[in-house]
Amino acid sequence: MKYDRMRHDMVEKQIEARGITDVAVLKAMRKVPRHLFVSEALMDQAYSDFPLPIGEQQTISQPYIVAEMTQALQLSADDRVLEIGTGSGYQAAILAQIVFRVYTIERIHSLYVKARKLFDQLGYHNIVTRYSDGTSGWKDESPFNAIIVTAGAPVVPTVLVNQLAIGGRMVIPVGDQHAQDLIRLERDERGIRQTNLGACRFVKLVGEHGWSDPS
Ligand code: SAH
Repeated sequence: MKYDRMRHDMVEKQIEARGITDVAVLKAMRKVPRHLFVSEALMDQAYSDFPLPIGEQQTISQPYIVAEMTQALQLSADDRVLEIGTGSGYQAAILAQIVFRVYTIERIHSLYVKARKLFDQLGYHNIVTRYSDGTSGWKDESPFNAIIVTAGAPVVPTVLVNQLAIGGRMVIPVGDQHAQDLIRLERDERGIRQTNLGACRFVKLVGEHGWSDPS
């Protein structure tokens, strides 16, 4: 299949070549059919080295960024992971390939519906979806072993950090609306350790503990 070859090429040239080594991440990215998470017109570009529009002025992240963020979460097979910003559903599908269960929240209804349908079609039964403002997290299902925020926040929302288990990891882009730093946090008994993984660019995290609603 054409797309299988493109996907293996993507992993070799964009992901492995740039130093991603987590075997589970590489395996997941070789498996998940990324072209099915974009519109038909963009399928041939799905394995290229850039983000793509998914409607509603939102984007599916560049493959490398997905790999980098997933690796930074240091996931195990029995982890429960929270994602804020379902979007196309691609990142959630990658996570679902690696961990026990994924909880993902989307604030735009049409994207939420589309992703849910796709998860069902592709058989991702370990992805739990929710339509709401994810900046407050998902208290009833907390604590999580990992939290991934796939939209740019003005600051790290404290409510989210509080939903991390001891030993839990979180990645979140933090900055202004044009450029952010990818921040990794780890919670241990003594508190939070924070590292900066470098520059990135995401659409806005809009909500109570994010940017205010533009509409
Ligand atoms: N992880 C996605 C990336 C989507 S882009 C993927 O793999 O395709 C970021 C998404 O975050 C957008 O769909 C946007 O609507 C959503 N988003 C922004 N603010 C949000 C919030 N407060 N709660 C939930 N989703 C939010």
